[in-house]
Parts: sequence; C-alpha cells; structure tokens
Amino acid sequence: MHLCHTSAAAQIVPGSMDVHWQPGAKDCSATPDAPLQVHAYNLQTFILRLSLCVDSEANFIYLLIGSELALLIDTGAEADPQKLPLARQVLELLPAKNNGKLPLLVVHTHRHLDHRAGDPQFQSLPAVEVVPTEDNAMRQRLGFTDWPNDVVQLDLGGRTVDVIPTPGHDPTHIGFYDRQTGLLFSGDFLLPGRLVINDLAAVRKSARRVVEFFLTRPLTHILGAHIELAVEGNAFGMGSQYHPNEHRLELAKEDLLALPTALDHFNGFYAKYPAYILTNPIRNLAAVGVTTLALIVLVVWVVVKWRQRRRAVLSN
Ligand SMILES: [Zn+2]
Ligand SMILES: [Zn+2]
Repeated sequence: MHLCHTSAAAQIVPGSMDVHWQPGAKDCSATPDAPLQVHAYNLQTFILRLSLCVDSEANFIYLLIGSELALLIDTGAEADPQKLPLARQVLELLPAKNNGKLPLLVVHTHRHLDHRAGDPQFQSLPAVEVVPTEDNAMRQRLGFTDWPNDVVQLDLGGRTVDVIPTPGHDPTHIGFYDRQTGLLFSGDFLLPGRLVINDLAAVRKSARRVVEFFLTRPLTHILGAHIELAVEGNAFGMGSQYHPNEHRLELAKEDLLALPTALDHFNGFYAKYPAYILTNPIRNLAAVGVTTLALIVLVVWVVVKWRQRRRAVLSN
C-alpha cells in the first residue's frame, strides 16, 4: 500500500489573480472610478483597492476569513466613510456568526497614515478590535518578545497567519504570511513601485530574514500595498491619479530572493530594477540640497569676482 504523500505545497488553497485594476482617471471629477474595487482571490480571501481618484496612494487592503476570526490588513488612506465606505464593504464580506458577524481583527503593515486612516470607521463596531499602530503597543498585542527576530502567529480558526517583522521602511513594519493560500502580504516592504528605504541596515536584515523564512515554505504570490510602476517598469509620477497599463500587483518568490543582493549593491540613493525601485528620499533630498548650495556658492563667487574685476577696470 502506498501512503499518500502530503507536502505543504499540495495543501495550498488556490486563488485567482485574474483581475484588471481600475486605472483611475486623468480628470477624476469627470470620470471617477468606484471608490473601492473588490476582488475575490477565493471565497475566504479578498483584495480591496482604493480608487486612485479617492487617493493617489490607491492602497491595497486584504481581508482573510477564518472559521473563528477575520483579519483585515490595513485600512487605507481615506478616513471619510462618505468618500470610502470601507467598513461597510468589509462587514458585507464577513460571514454571519452567532447572530452577528464573524469577529474582525484589524492590523496594519505599518503606522504610515495611508495604511491606517480608515481605522476610525472600525473603532466603535461590535466584535471588531483594531490593533494599535504605536510600536510598543503593537508588539505587545501581537505577542512579539524578541523583535525583530521572532515570528508570531495569528490563529483565525483553521487558518494560521505568521507575522514577520520587516522594519526598515518604517520601524513598525510587519509582513503577514497566510499558510492557507501561501500568500505574503508585504505592505511597503516589497511592492511593484518605490521601496522607500529609511533605514538601509534594518531593511537589509529584514530582507535576509524573510528570504530565510521562505527557504522552507511555499510562497504563491507577494502582494504589496501599492502599484507605482507601469508594465514596462517606469514609475508613474508621484501623486498621479491615472495609471494606464499598470504593472501586475503580484510579485514572485524570485523578486524576494533577489532583494538581499539588490540591497547589498544599493548606493543609498536610487536603483531601478524590473519589479521595483530602491530609493531613499531623505538622502535624495539632502543631495539636492547640497547641490543647490554648491550652485549658490558658485554663483556668488562668480558675481563677486566679476565686480572686483569691474572695479579694477573702473579705477584704472
Ligand atoms: Zn509606508
Ligand atoms: Zn504606503
């Protein structure tokens, strides 16, 4: 008799990334998209995206449903429920449980406002808990005891999510790995756009840790919080509300595996790869500042020299 071999990969629940994201509009006042686009990856996994016309960040928000608990990853860039009825939409997607809705835990990839502006819509709802974004409170609630080296688990009931520290873009950054689908929700740590690096040493360590984590685990897709690249790899302008021909949302395991080397070669300012751009805006700003200062000094020096020469000519 041959015993059935069950590998982790064989147990992965599949889903679909067959979706065309709304492109936004050249004139959002004339032709706005629906404020929120919802894609069912499968029956227990939903991808929600803010319209580019609601906010140019156009965040992706993820809803995972277990048998005991649902998990919402990020709440997006817009607080006003009139402009973005996020909580209403999420409640509609939640299954019923005990004469009410399935309890919901709201978490954040990190504390940047475009990932938590929608929190107030959830704060007074029954059976909803919003995990704080402040670093100590977040770590305590999620159970980290050896940050950033430990990985903690969230049990949704028949569905376990690993929470992986990924500081560097921001000190509070975490990623979520869903064992059921093999999806990694990577926030602003890894996405088809600008990887804004505020602490290069921390990002390098985070990338190494995440790569090591996936040496032994299946990874279906990496789903980040924004798309900022077009298909051919060029970035849309900052603040652009129109994204024709967007790069696909999902990145592959290879993109993650290549990240540590890309970070090792990073000059600290800017580097472009097919699936992402490494950038440090503070350093770039400083570089622009230094260049501007040098130009001013040069101009002043030229003017002073010219005047001296003119004075010399006049006195002769
Ligand atoms: Zn961010
Ligand atoms: Zn962001």
